[in-house]
Amino acid sequence: MGSSSFSSDNLKPLKQASLQRALGQLTAGDTGRRVCQYEVPGGGVCRDRDCTDLHLSRIASEPSDSDIAAYVHGALPHPWCGRCDVRAIEIALEGVRLRGGGIKDIDERVREALYGLGITVA
Ligand SMILES: [Zn+2]
Repeated sequence: MGSSSFSSDNLKPLKQASLQRALGQLTAGDTGRRVCQYEVPGGGVCRDRDCTDLHLSRIASEPSDSDIAAYVHGALPHPWCGRCDVRAIEIALEGVRLRGGGIKDIDERVREALYGLGITVA
């Protein structure tokens, strides 16, 4: 069938949305500071530790487990989306985080969580 797998590319809109939300919170709050030009619009990483600009990568801009779970569930192809619910994915994501293992990347965590639920990820 080929369609019963989940590609981590599907996570890109979620990451962009959470980044934009963080950006919105920043600009709504402290307008005296600007976002570091290395990160926006560059998408790179600022290596200057003395840089006083705002850095999205240093802010907790990650979506929460429930955000990720809801998103992943909505992006799951048939028949997976009918076989597990959002809560199951959220619990699996929590489990991956609690086990640790140095997994910080969302893609990695989603892959681990879905694997634990028996869902194949491309
Ligand atoms: Zn910077």
